[in-house]
Amino acid sequence: MEDTVKRFKEHLEKMRAIDHASGVLYYDSDTVMPKANAEAFGRTMSYLSGEGYKLGTAPELRGYIDAILAAPDKVDYITLREAQELHRQFAKLERIPIEVFTEYSELCSKAQLVWMEAKVDNDYAAFEPYLSKIVAMTRQMAEYTDPDMEPYNAVLDGYERGLTMEVLDEFFALLRNKLAPLVHEVMERGRKLDTSFLKQNFSIDKQRELSKYLMEVMCLPMDRCTIGEVEHPFTTGFSKYDVRITTHYHEDMMASNVFSVIHEGGHALYEANIADELTYSPVLGGGVSMSIHESRSRFFENIIGRSPEYVNLIYPKIVELFPEQLKGISSEQFWLAINESRPSLIRTEADELTYTLHIMVRYELEKRLIAGTLSTKDLPAAWDEMYREYLGIEVPNDKEGVLQDSHWSGGMIGYFPSYALGSAYSAQFRHSMQKDMDVSAQIASGDLHPIVAWLTERIYRFGGLKTPKDIIRDATGEDFDPNYYIDYLTEKYRRIYELDK
Ligand code: ZN
Repeated sequence: MEDTVKRFKEHLEKMRAIDHASGVLYYDSDTVMPKANAEAFGRTMSYLSGEGYKLGTAPELRGYIDAILAAPDKVDYITLREAQELHRQFAKLERIPIEVFTEYSELCSKAQLVWMEAKVDNDYAAFEPYLSKIVAMTRQMAEYTDPDMEPYNAVLDGYERGLTMEVLDEFFALLRNKLAPLVHEVMERGRKLDTSFLKQNFSIDKQRELSKYLMEVMCLPMDRCTIGEVEHPFTTGFSKYDVRITTHYHEDMMASNVFSVIHEGGHALYEANIADELTYSPVLGGGVSMSIHESRSRFFENIIGRSPEYVNLIYPKIVELFPEQLKGISSEQFWLAINESRPSLIRTEADELTYTLHIMVRYELEKRLIAGTLSTKDLPAAWDEMYREYLGIEVPNDKEGVLQDSHWSGGMIGYFPSYALGSAYSAQFRHSMQKDMDVSAQIASGDLHPIVAWLTERIYRFGGLKTPKDIIRDATGEDFDPNYYIDYLTEKYRRIYELDK
């Protein structure tokens, strides 16, 4: 067994090296590579992903995994968990006939190009046949991988282990019944907030200085974490010793950078605080799931970053950098401005209160598409109807409606709920943290270390070792409960908009 484990680890090390190399190249291409090099970049990536695929599906790897799983008490816990995870991934993939899998990959590559053009041309009809096929094949593959499950449950499970429609139906019903009316009330009765001072000229050099300051305030290890500039910000980590966040600067929108840095910094804190013994594992060395990762970023962006105590803490530095622009504006006014809520058409620009309603619309539609009770032909009308009902706005065209996101064209049906779950988990973590410390007072003190330590102890250090469900249960003492999120938003927005006065 000792020899098997040794060879298993050597194989994983090759997989890690390929991941590392591809990741650095991808980061490089998005930040500094001249676009003219796209051809060579594409060829290199295609070679590396081919090598990665070979390593990931190698018969000898299958052999090591089977041997380890047959004698679980002869190996250490981390090795066992690595074998279990790989086995789980294999088991699903193996049930899909290779020709179906290939056809689906080709379909999605093509569909993405068609979608890009269709979005520019506002031409849903051009994209519809591709989407229709993607929906049919998603259902077909779910029937292969999990013949005993409802197809949409199998799809959800692919993104968040154990997630079912039952959980999401309850979650979104709460959003529909509690949040949608709150959004309407804010629009009808809420006070008018002044946000005009956020749209002035803010020097990009000064904004860069602010980014560094924000990273320090949130306890990012500056010797292991860097910041780059891109169009669509993201975070990537190659081990806990090399975590890279990115942001984008707009001269006339200073707040956009502030919250990008805090959001991506939230992802980076997770990656930078994974346990030493897991950090080089290509299987367990990253965050456990997309929604847990998103809960970490939204926790910092919204629950901490948009709290009055945090704004109060960083505001002197902002005023020091932009004294002219913010003359006569108090920290309280700044806090109100960055929390303005207004129903909008575009998900990625939505505020904290309305964001999850955008996800709810997508969830309801995906569920019906996969169940076969909604056809892709009727999708735009259904989309527009739900925006009218839940967000109270008219969708003027498909490019700002059903064509706005890239997910469906890329075959990522089932991905959207992670965004909403992440937000909801973060409120539950906040509630649980409050039992151990006065969170607001801790933020106000300016020392965020105890907050980061709490998160490291209960979430970060485990990487992919536990399931998302166990992370939540162990950190909070109970299963996921969306009521914490509803309570948090209700209290926050009733206060901001003075709805009880
Ligand atoms: Zn994120």
